[in-house]
Amino acid sequence: MEKNRIGIFGGTFDPPHVGHLILAAEARDQLKLDCTIWVLTPNPPHKQGKEISSLEHRLNMVELAISEDDGFALSRVDIDRPGPHYAVDMAHILRETYGDKELIYLMGGDSLDDLPKWYKTKEFLSVLDGIGVMRRPGDDIDLSELYTALPELKDKLNFVTAPLLEISAEQIRRRARQNRAYRYYVLPKIYEYIREHQIYQD
Ligand code: ATP
Repeated sequence: MEKNRIGIFGGTFDPPHVGHLILAAEARDQLKLDCTIWVLTPNPPHKQGKEISSLEHRLNMVELAISEDDGFALSRVDIDRPGPHYAVDMAHILRETYGDKELIYLMGGDSLDDLPKWYKTKEFLSVLDGIGVMRRPGDDIDLSELYTALPELKDKLNFVTAPLLEISAEQIRRRARQNRAYRYYVLPKIYEYIREHQIYQD
């Protein structure tokens, strides 16, 4: 029987924006993913000390963002376990859940840059079948450096081809606070949700 290929897309999603959706959709096409689960992380270890919107709002926004796409689903794997929410632990849990299905972790180029600094990166990589990366403006990917630090990456890394998108959640939060334009960086229903709940107003 043919194995299913599952994309895992972890993030803070504060808010989910079109950069996330384009990455997830291009990865599905190019890496032939059968479905992609969005793993909302309540308190990412690498964003400690930064102000993050409530889990409830982020959860509602991710649900809205993916609701019209049958190939996307929300995973509560990080929500339903105590922190710290290291990606390696999440990967182990998903491996147990999905058995021998192929697990492909999706990330932006900035996250790939940081990968050697993640907690137990080698173990994280050993649990996964692949890594799908979409480049991001300002990322600084030095493949030879990455392969020296993590030789196992060589067989697992796949680049997703897409236009570079100068969009980040941080920039959207800042623009919303300053009453500057950000409307088209997010889906209309996310824009409405942000305004209705005044999420990024001080
Ligand atoms: P923030 O600005 O708050 O740090 P973010 O926009 O980077 O947030 P996250 O939820 O932290 O969003 O990102 C989840 C994943 O999506 C990360 O792997 C990140 O690299 C990737 N990603 C986000 N935006 C882009 C983009 N414009 N291009 C490529 N990858 C992206």
